[in-house]
Amino acid sequence: MKRIQRAAGVIVGSAVGDALGGPFEFGHQGAFSARFPVTDVDAGAGGGGGGEMCGGGGWDPGEATDDTQMAVLVAESLLERGGLDLPDIFARFQRWASSEPKDIGLQTEDVLTNGRPWDLAAAFHVQVNERAAGNGSLMRASTSAVRFAAAGREATMDAARRIAALTHGDRAAWEGTAIFHELVRVTLDDADPLAALPDILAHVHPDHRDRYATVLAPHWHPDQATEFNGAVWPCLGSAVWALRTTDGFEDALRAAIDLGGDTDTVAAVTGGLAGAYYGLDAIPARWTQPLHVPLPGFGGRVLHLPDLLRLAYRLGG
Ligand SMILES: [Mg+2]
Repeated sequence: MKRIQRAAGVIVGSAVGDALGGPFEFGHQGAFSARFPVTDVDAGAGGGGGGEMCGGGGWDPGEATDDTQMAVLVAESLLERGGLDLPDIFARFQRWASSEPKDIGLQTEDVLTNGRPWDLAAAFHVQVNERAAGNGSLMRASTSAVRFAAAGREATMDAARRIAALTHGDRAAWEGTAIFHELVRVTLDDADPLAALPDILAHVHPDHRDRYATVLAPHWHPDQATEFNGAVWPCLGSAVWALRTTDGFEDALRAAIDLGGDTDTVAAVTGGLAGAYYGLDAIPARWTQPLHVPLPGFGGRVLHLPDLLRLAYRLGG
């Protein structure tokens, strides 16, 4: 498979997972399959039916949530600034956050609006709040993972940590995002991401290695999570579990959303990994056709599939 197929798969796959999972956020386990049984989907896939991009919970059918909106903000900064410009990314996040996006993570919102400068805001949040290991930096990492993949392991894991640190002061969030970046890098290089996990874990900060080794272990199941999947560890563990225990893009996303909880983000992370693994062509048109990404604060722009593909080519082509 061509590298660009995988790179586009990361960005579009993550956006599709986000939009597909959004209406099911905080729902119960199995809600997606209860509404869209596998047999119906099989029939729909052949006959143009489907309907899984159903909207609801304030979301229009195919509308991507904050996960993808922030990933696009990161992408446009990386492209317009010609590399990693952390104050610029932070300023774009702030501009977006002040434009009333339909959804924004509690921690992210607090950091972006607490009035502290870009390099102190997240640390300030940690001082005040004990818990800062949400999945909000992992959820938006698809575009930066594609952009830095060609730079090698050290550079891509470092970039992931630094972008994560803009909003998340807890190193656990940095390390989870770094693992995601590295999983994408090895997959774009045609290697098996699951086989690479032991090697990736060796490059995780030693203070955080054991906890990630637990949730990324071959026999770990999301039922064993010790936190809600809005936390970074079970979110990443669940995405890797969904990739490991299914054998196609659609089934991986179904498994992720059926876990319930923070479905848009777990599916966005799963979609990024599965999109890299199976490539753009594995993502069904009935999911990409209604997909759209509003960008509050940026002139009312709404990105569609061709726009996301253009970003993918420019970031990873
Ligand atoms: Mg979201």
